[in-house]
Amino acid sequence: MVILDGLPDRPVNGRTPLTVARKPNLDKIAEMGINGIMDTIAPGIRPGSDTSHLALLGYDPKKYYTGRGAIEALGVGIDLNPGDLAFRANFATVKGNGSIFDKVVVDRRAGRIEETEELVKALNEIDLPVDFEVAKATGHRAVVVFRGNFSTNVSDTDPKTVGSKVKRCEGDKEIAEIVNEFMQKAHEVLEKHWINEEREKRGLPRANALLLRGAGVMKEVPSFEERYGLSLKVISATALIKGVGRFVKGEIFTPPNATGNKKTDIGAKIKAALDSLKSSDVVLLHIKAFDELGHDRDFEGKVGFIEKFDSYASKLLELDFSKNCLIVTSDHSTPVKVGDHTADPVIVSILHEDVRRDDVKTFNEFEAPKGGLCRIRGADLLNIALDLLNLVEKFGA
Ligand code: ZN
Ligand code: ZN
Repeated sequence: MVILDGLPDRPVNGRTPLTVARKPNLDKIAEMGINGIMDTIAPGIRPGSDTSHLALLGYDPKKYYTGRGAIEALGVGIDLNPGDLAFRANFATVKGNGSIFDKVVVDRRAGRIEETEELVKALNEIDLPVDFEVAKATGHRAVVVFRGNFSTNVSDTDPKTVGSKVKRCEGDKEIAEIVNEFMQKAHEVLEKHWINEEREKRGLPRANALLLRGAGVMKEVPSFEERYGLSLKVISATALIKGVGRFVKGEIFTPPNATGNKKTDIGAKIKAALDSLKSSDVVLLHIKAFDELGHDRDFEGKVGFIEKFDSYASKLLELDFSKNCLIVTSDHSTPVKVGDHTADPVIVSILHEDVRRDDVKTFNEFEAPKGGLCRIRGADLLNIALDLLNLVEKFGA
């Protein structure tokens, strides 16, 4: 299952990046397969990458999704138990007098600080009434987990706008008070940390606060293997997608030069996916940069990355389609005109020796709807593939 994150687009002067790009291999995939469009969650619902990936793996996000924090925490490698509460966090710069909640955010990313290892180490030494863990994520980002049996009924402390005061955590009293205590103690530890003294000498903003958002609680989830009797491997460099993989207890692999952006080593990722089929039943290969370029509203950039991906995609066509099923699709559209995810259905091509091939010969938003798959839901995708492979039981007699 190849997920081209945020690839599909809306027309700009009648054209989308996919209609402009030269992409002989993606077109070959469309030609060899059965094609259609797909609402990864439901028509008109704008999917997040986390909820849509859950749906594509057959997990109803309405039932299982409990907020981004938990998925992100799993993605950076923290082990979670049911009931643990996780937040996404940003190192930020705050100024003013009094407690952390009297101070104003002047930079939500603390000058896009990268060297947070020592700060994270110091934060983990804080004394709190519950067990907790802070972990570094990419750049200025981190994850904070409070261990216990909590609900997600707690608010963010990140005001999300520069010039606003740090927010007090509200909601479930028991945990909100602990979060607020953490906020104050974290500020004190960071304010006097030598890294920040050095940053100040170099004229850089102090990373003197941790802003929390996106509370999520870990849930009891049946593993992919329990559900389907098949092993799962997820190949991605993006914490959120790795988190979805760990959420359903799949195996995760990130090739050394996979970056989760447009500089990624596509060849290494495709090779890793094909190699993984020797030991895993289902392999999800996630390629992120299409989405990033959509968020950046970069039409030409998207065209260029499609062509770059395509130059490696011939390897996918070397699969033995009498034994393997290849799905090429996306988790949602990220149109350059919008700069964010939309509910426009995504393109799906499914390849297998026994598939009923249709007349679609071009991989794009306008041709895919003419294919034999018509319009499906994300929750049905895996079942369709398993049926082609004769891996499902009959329903009824
Ligand atoms: Zn996405
Ligand atoms: Zn996105």
